[in-house]
Amino acid sequence: MNIYRDVVVWDAESEAARRCDVCTENGKISAVKPAGTYAYGAAYEGRGRTALIPGFVNAHGHAAMTLTRGFGEDLPLMDWLQKRIWPAEAKLDGELVYKGTLLSILEMLSTGTTCFADMYFYMDRVADAALEAGIRAGLSRGVMGDTSIEKLNENLAFAKKYDGLEGLVRVQTGPHAPYTVSFECMKYVAEASKENGLGVQLHWLETKNEWNMVEAGSRMTPEEYLEQTGLLDVKHLLLAHCVWMDKEKMPFYARPNITVAHNPKSNLKLGSGVAPVAAMNEAHINVALGTDGASSNNRLDMWDEMRYAALLQKGFNMDPSLLTAQDALSMATKNGAEALGFSDTGLIREGWAADFILIDLDMPHYTGWNCENLPGYLVYAGSSADIMTTVVAGKTLYHMGEFPGLDAERIIAEAAEARKKLL
Ligand SMILES: [Zn+2]
Repeated sequence: MNIYRDVVVWDAESEAARRCDVCTENGKISAVKPAGTYAYGAAYEGRGRTALIPGFVNAHGHAAMTLTRGFGEDLPLMDWLQKRIWPAEAKLDGELVYKGTLLSILEMLSTGTTCFADMYFYMDRVADAALEAGIRAGLSRGVMGDTSIEKLNENLAFAKKYDGLEGLVRVQTGPHAPYTVSFECMKYVAEASKENGLGVQLHWLETKNEWNMVEAGSRMTPEEYLEQTGLLDVKHLLLAHCVWMDKEKMPFYARPNITVAHNPKSNLKLGSGVAPVAAMNEAHINVALGTDGASSNNRLDMWDEMRYAALLQKGFNMDPSLLTAQDALSMATKNGAEALGFSDTGLIREGWAADFILIDLDMPHYTGWNCENLPGYLVYAGSSADIMTTVVAGKTLYHMGEFPGLDAERIIAEAAEARKKLL
């Protein structure tokens, strides 16, 4: 058993923080007791000056795109994809994806992410990287283009082999987007996902004129498309972006099996717009947060994403009461977990996964914090640089600049080589 004594606990379901002793056992949180329940000299002493909050759940991304970071800056989405990213990605192989994913995992762990979504290729190698690191992941094989059915079959074979492995990997299907997958194939993906009890990740309404590029787009609205393909009935439907979701259609999306993955910085950088997240919240849509790939963000820093998400809604709607610090933390943690197949991740509660981060409240910018105002301090003044430790399933995967289970130096050197090979 590990004891984190006298830490300041805050999660998405508590408005204020409180001082607690937190115990972990067998990868789970086994006890959350008032501070001082356990004797002084426990494994970790928080001294009432270390915050413990849930690890971040990055609900949308393409991890190995750390290899194409900086490649094709300042281009609109379609130019960026067609002229830069897709030609480079055509040269990928399993080894390159593995090396790029490990690099992204270093960045994610050091910035507090304990669970990440991924839609990419050579997913068995992505899963290998996640398992090697001990980080949680919801993985899908990107399905697109003329060979979609082949790729779907790969996705299903990947699910058979990896879904549930070590309690860390869950598999979804990953039809890329309605403009890269035919209507017929999308129906097939939805059917196969239902049959196999798998959730689905896809890009949805990311750019303004995207629906014109959808083969069935002239015949039906996006919502009719979800109904008629059968996507609406899958176990979990994770819709990345939704920048151009129509306000009147929002009640349609308020369903227990639908999660929107909001990617504010990728949408800003690619000039796609600002998703109407405040209106989504009002319509009771479950909204999670993601970074998207490192080449369109260009960071994999969920803390940064959480701060941007809150500030954007306040500024864009000229209403500072929108998207509170607590809302932002919900989006960055608990709201994304279930769609990725993890129903006990994202809160600091007994019986939940021991996925959390420790934050140094002795940093100068926390001066003046107390249990009531800590949420605002963390979201608006804090940053991922304040993270001392990242714990996944009870194991310390990052601590004070070091990665106890990984050879970071080797991973960085190999990723640099892989990038040269690719570009
Ligand atoms: Zn994406």
